[in-house]
Amino acid sequence: MKTAFIGLGAMGYPMAGHLSQRFETLVWNRTAEKARQHAAEFKSQVLEDFSGLKDVDVIFTCLPTTSEVIQVLNQVLFFLKPGSLWVDCTSGDPVKSLDVAQTLAEHQVTYLDAPVSGGTAGAINGALSVMIGGPAESIEQVREVLSTFAGKVVHVGKVGSGHAVKAINNMLLAINLLSAGEGLVALAKMGVDLEAALEVINVSSGRSNATQNLIPQRVLTREFPATFALGLLAKDAGIALDVSRSAGAPTPLFAITESLYRAARDTIGASEDHTAVVKMLEHWAGVTLS
Ligand code: NDP
Repeated sequence: MKTAFIGLGAMGYPMAGHLSQRFETLVWNRTAEKARQHAAEFKSQVLEDFSGLKDVDVIFTCLPTTSEVIQVLNQVLFFLKPGSLWVDCTSGDPVKSLDVAQTLAEHQVTYLDAPVSGGTAGAINGALSVMIGGPAESIEQVREVLSTFAGKVVHVGKVGSGHAVKAINNMLLAINLLSAGEGLVALAKMGVDLEAALEVINVSSGRSNATQNLIPQRVLTREFPATFALGLLAKDAGIALDVSRSAGAPTPLFAITESLYRAARDTIGASEDHTAVVKMLEHWAGVTLS
C-alpha cells in the first residue's frame, strides 16, 4: 500500500515518521524544507509534484483547520487515484467536511475524518487516540496504516462524527484547564500553597488532566512549552459551540468558555501554548501561579 502525508507540523511530522517505517510514504509540506528534512530523518520520500499522488492508496492530511484542507484539496483533486482513501487527521469542522467528502466522492475517493488526541508526546510515541467517522468497510481498510501512530482507533459514526467528537473532547479540555486555572488563582489569592493544594486535589474528586499534568508541568514551571497552540484550542472550542448549537443542545458553559478562549487568543497570542490561557486569569487577579 502506498501512502502520502500532507502537513508536517507539530503532529504531522512525527505521525508521518511512524507511517514511513511500515509503508511507502510520500510527504508534502507548504514549507518544503520540512519535507526534505523529514525524508532525510525517516524513510519517507518528498512529494515534489502533486501528480505523484496518482498511484497513492491512502492520503493523510494534518492541517490547522478544514479551510487549509479545502485549499490543498483544490490543488490535488485531479491527481487523486479513483478508489483511494483520504484520511483527514485535522481537528476539523464536521459540516464543512461533508462538502469535502461530497467533492471527493465525485472523484471516487472516500473521505474519512480521523482527528487525533494525545498531543505531540502521543504523536512522537505512536500512541495517539483516533476518533474516526465514515463507512465501516473503509475504516477497516485503513486500520493497519493508522496503527502505525495510534494506540486506539474508535469508529464513532458517519462522516463528520470524528470531528464532532474531537471538538467536544477539546471543549472538555478547555473547560477543565480554565476551571483549574480559576481555582488555583483563587487559592493563590488566599495565600494557599499551590503544590500542597494540587497534591491533595490530584487524589480527590476535582482532579483532571489539567490539574495532574498541564498545570504542574507547564504553568507552575512557567515553561508553557508551545506544543498545542492556544489559537487551535480556541478554534476547537468554536467548532464545539457551533455543532452543539446546530444540534439544538443547551450550551451555557460552552458559550462562555468559547468566548474566554477567543479573548485569551487575542490578548495572550494565538501561537502561545494553550496552557497560557491561565495568564489571562493571572493578569486579572494580579497574581502569578508558581
Ligand atoms: P502546526 O501549526 O504545528 O502545523 C500546521 C501544518 O499545516 C504545517 O505543516 C503547516 O505548514 C501546514 N499549513 C498551514 N497552513 C497551510 C496552508 N494554507 N496550506 C498548506 N499547509 C498549511 O499544527 P499542529 O500539527 O499542532 O496541528 C495540526 C492539527 O492537529 C490541528 O487541527 C490541531 O488542532 C490538531 N491537533 C494538534 C495537537 C497538538 O498537540 N499540537 C493535538 C491534537 C490535535 P508550514 O510548515 O508551512 O507552516
